[in-house]
Amino acid sequence: MNAFEFLSNLSAPVCLFCGRVLAHQKSSPSEYFSFAYHVCHSCLTRLPYKPYSEQISSCVQHDETPNPILAITAMRYEEPIASALRTLKFREGLHFAPILSFIMYKALQASAATFDAVIPIPLSPKRRQTRGYNQAEILASPIARRLGIPLLNTFLVRSRNTAQQSRFQDPMKRAQNISGAFEVPDECCVDGLKILLVDDVLTTGFTLHEAATTLLSAGATMVVALTAASRRILE
Ligand SMILES: [Zn+2]
Repeated sequence: MNAFEFLSNLSAPVCLFCGRVLAHQKSSPSEYFSFAYHVCHSCLTRLPYKPYSEQISSCVQHDETPNPILAITAMRYEEPIASALRTLKFREGLHFAPILSFIMYKALQASAATFDAVIPIPLSPKRRQTRGYNQAEILASPIARRLGIPLLNTFLVRSRNTAQQSRFQDPMKRAQNISGAFEVPDECCVDGLKILLVDDVLTTGFTLHEAATTLLSAGATMVVALTAASRRILE
């Protein structure tokens, strides 16, 4: 490597997943894509894709599904996506958002459903203030733009501060922790809307189900959940 190549590499975009310097030539759509999303072709082909949909419910045993909600997910919760989603909760991980959001959008395209609006799962005001942003909103915003529908990021709020769901291993405790955690503010109308509800990770599904139920109770006609990855896909 000569001095020119060395200096060029210092400022060249690198793959977010493997750190490889991305090629300078952009003579094919895939090379443009790599540059735009900072992902090399090799990593792009090896991400744990698993476009998948399932019915989620508030039932802890999942053997019955009262008021089920359709949840669509794009990938398995495996490396390198698991690390990307963990770091998305910190500012240095925000550069993963464009590629994650794009993959979520592609997974959604397999569904024939149409929507009126996109709503991200909200953080509590306290956590939002500490983090400075909501990672679900960061993922949801480009999806709303691609769909050409509004992002209603104030139409669903946390009505109380909850402990982080990841603190509870017991599904019953997770269900109790999130029960009644959301509300649609009086001044916001979701009446008659078909809503795409967006979050980063699907674990038990309780958070998404609770949020969806709140929106349906407030008058939404349909709610479908979309996440980047699911911990529930085993095979
Ligand atoms: Zn790579």
